[in-house]
Amino acid sequence: MALHAVSAKSADRFDDVFTTPLSETVLPKYRMPEGQSDPHTVYSLLHAELLLDGNASQNLATFCTTWSDDEVCRLMAENLGKNMIDKDEYPQTAEVESRCVHILADLWNSPAERTTMGCSTTGSSEAAMLGGLALKWRWREKRQKAGKPADRPNLVCGPVQICWDKFARYFDVELRQVPLEEGATGLRPHQLRQYVDENTIGVVAILGVTFTCDYEPVAELAAELDAIQADTGLDIPIHVDAASGGFIAPFVQPDLVWDFRLERVSSINSSGHKYGLSPLGVGWAVWREASMLPKGLIFDVNYLGGDMPTFALNFSRPGGEIIAQYYNLLRLGRAGYRKVQQACIDTARYFGERVAGMGPFELLYDGHGALPAVSYKLRDDVTGFNLYDLTELLRARGWQVPSYPLPPDRQETTIQRVMVRHGIGRDEIALLADDIERSLELLRKGAPADGRRKAFHH
Ligand SMILES: *Cc1c(COP(=O)(O)O)cnc(C)c1O
Repeated sequence: MALHAVSAKSADRFDDVFTTPLSETVLPKYRMPEGQSDPHTVYSLLHAELLLDGNASQNLATFCTTWSDDEVCRLMAENLGKNMIDKDEYPQTAEVESRCVHILADLWNSPAERTTMGCSTTGSSEAAMLGGLALKWRWREKRQKAGKPADRPNLVCGPVQICWDKFARYFDVELRQVPLEEGATGLRPHQLRQYVDENTIGVVAILGVTFTCDYEPVAELAAELDAIQADTGLDIPIHVDAASGGFIAPFVQPDLVWDFRLERVSSINSSGHKYGLSPLGVGWAVWREASMLPKGLIFDVNYLGGDMPTFALNFSRPGGEIIAQYYNLLRLGRAGYRKVQQACIDTARYFGERVAGMGPFELLYDGHGALPAVSYKLRDDVTGFNLYDLTELLRARGWQVPSYPLPPDRQETTIQRVMVRHGIGRDEIALLADDIERSLELLRKGAPADGRRKAFHH
């Protein structure tokens, strides 16, 4: 039936949602409808369709916020129309962004927390691009001053998130990815020397490796770079990708030295929408001090009749997430963040103990020392099923627990990872553990995943 014919069917404004003409059709997928429809009907149909996405709180794969205070929802709605780039029109949103930058610079122990540069971004990916660009520009400036060629920059890192591959490709930098050693959860200091040279713009250290959830030893990496400088004269800065750890370590591992307390750390990125507890769409990039951000990368926008420096890949962006970030910082304070993150860590450790006790698993990371998460693999002597089978069985109960291979050099190892976030309680994780035990029983009996595996994986 053509769409105009549908809308011609008589509609009564008191129709039940599920007897309206629109609800009695398959929704258009390739062409915009000619006519208008009742907003409530469209809302209800879309609402129902999106339930197919599953329940975000049962998504144990994501690092991102899936739970927000009512106040956050209200602030987001109230500020829906505000464009954060219009600093002149929305000076108070700009002010709130600036407060967040300096609060984070202070949290990460910048020696110049009140004057340093930083900005909000759409997430850590954009923040990583900006951090990488600043490294590249500073390296180039130094090379040019010394009269040396500056056309073959490289960046050294361990098992990084895909955003660093993007940075390298988009901005013409060679990514020297150090292979993951057997038994290691990230880059190790003794591996560095072999990979750095005069064209190295920086080393990326990860506070919360995406694959394993463990921290890379930033202080030890910095000490190794100190030793390399003493031996070779190469002065190589560190950018810390603290996408997740930037909002965990300051609260629950305060003695871990990973941030601007290390002179070699020149910039840090973190995701406000991960353990920063803000809704999706905000990340942060902060430099140790203003001089670390090359002037050539800064654009001035008009702001209250003056100029405001900006540095971003995007232009228009919503202001609500930034406001929500400031709300969370104010609402929870250091004590509140500590409590929320510690509760997540305690629950992750509980889950780690349950997993360890089940028998067939070997933990890669047990929730101690880094992110509120657990990662594990099947013991080598387990046969008859694999982690993908388990993922599939858990999915039947709504749980999203992904299985995936480790990075290229260790690809033969498949692991599972469970992230515990704000809004995921102990009881929910206990139910997940019960479901894993039940699934293991089924898998040991050979059913039903055996049949499924044949069907789905040939
Ligand atoms: C999530 C993540 C990113 C990307 O961050 P987004 O906020 O999703 O853009 C980068 N690095 C690490 C280590 C991450 O965990």
